[in-house]
Amino acid sequence: MRICFKINSFLAIFKEILSKMGNAYPYRCEHCGYEESFNQGHGFLIHSQPVVEYLKHHTKLFHYKTDNLLRKLAKTNDDLFLKAGFQVYKCPKCKVLYDKIEVVVYNDEKVVHKSCFRCNKCHSRLKLTNIHRLKNAICPRCHKKTFQINHSHQQLWD
Ligand SMILES: [Zn+2]
Ligand SMILES: [Zn+2]
Repeated sequence: MRICFKINSFLAIFKEILSKMGNAYPYRCEHCGYEESFNQGHGFLIHSQPVVEYLKHHTKLFHYKTDNLLRKLAKTNDDLFLKAGFQVYKCPKCKVLYDKIEVVVYNDEKVVHKSCFRCNKCHSRLKLTNIHRLKNAICPRCHKKTFQINHSHQQLWD
């Protein structure tokens, strides 16, 4: 079962909370100076756990459609496990980067749900990208291919 949805502003709040807990990759455009950080990994709030545990929390961390789906799935199976974390995605068409909370639901080894996201601009399905290998991306502001990782501001934690 797949549900697609667009980015939500609530993500900004969690980026704030997780700023000290994730790998934040700062990107900077050499052309216009635009800066944006992308998170990858999990943190205090966003982490892997049994679905029943997650549903006990009062705070809803995921998109409401994901929450609804989790509740629905848990009704017929109380043995599900969810893997959650920030992932960096790239639009295959406009090459713009996004970070999103990916949620994958497992029934033993079988994947019963996996997040999928669409580009805000062209609505293409976003593809997971390996930020360690990624060299250049398109700047979301000036649209030049000069959006690059800023190593001098990289924050690492473990
Ligand atoms: Zn730029
Ligand atoms: Zn796009």
